[in-house]
Amino acid sequence: MVMVIKDMLRSASLCLPLEVGFSCKPHRAKAFRASFCDDWKVVRLALIHGAHIEAVGDVELNSEGYIDFEDCDGAVTNVPGILLTTSNGDCIPVWTCDPVKRCVGLAHAGWRGTLAGIAASLVRRMKEVYGCEPEDIVAHIGPGIGACCFEVGEDVAQSFLEKYPWAEEYCYAGRTGKPFLDLKGINAHILSFESVGEIEVSSRCTCCEEELFYSYRRSADTSRMLAYIGIKGLDLS
Ligand SMILES: [Zn+2]
Repeated sequence: MVMVIKDMLRSASLCLPLEVGFSCKPHRAKAFRASFCDDWKVVRLALIHGAHIEAVGDVELNSEGYIDFEDCDGAVTNVPGILLTTSNGDCIPVWTCDPVKRCVGLAHAGWRGTLAGIAASLVRRMKEVYGCEPEDIVAHIGPGIGACCFEVGEDVAQSFLEKYPWAEEYCYAGRTGKPFLDLKGINAHILSFESVGEIEVSSRCTCCEEELFYSYRRSADTSRMLAYIGIKGLDLS
């Protein structure tokens, strides 16, 4: 099954033809990504849990047929035919699209990336490189681990509250007595601070919904889902 990221990005894609989605079971990220290689220049983003966003122009493929960016968890592009991809376990995918400036972005936001502000970096990079107005940007957050399942240590919760005092509303005393964090909510809040025009948040939890998703938190499964977005070229649209 492939979950098409719906509504907002779909409406954006009326102006800008997009290939956008999130692969669910039984697809595994690696094989699913390979299925795009005939038609797309596939960018593999690394998972280093930072906040750096790469701007991807026209690029050369490596011998495996990919383009690897090993020092970033997110990227933006305005080049048709380039497919940005991340592999996700429970971490939160953040898609962005500006149908006016005709560019897209994708970031992988685990708790470290969220704390480092990767969602804000994504929007700022679109402004800086393509001159986007944040109000024109549409964003979709998740599927990813929900507040229902994301138990963290006191130290992690504290580091969020120190950096983002407003994050108190996304931190709950959970059933175990430990704090639970709503990473999707925090990323949405960060995007709203950046004045992003439309923000859609998925209610899907990768940890709860075993029939749909792989989850490291649930089962230490090393299989991943693939998040992807690209602007279709003329021959693909
Ligand atoms: Zn859950």
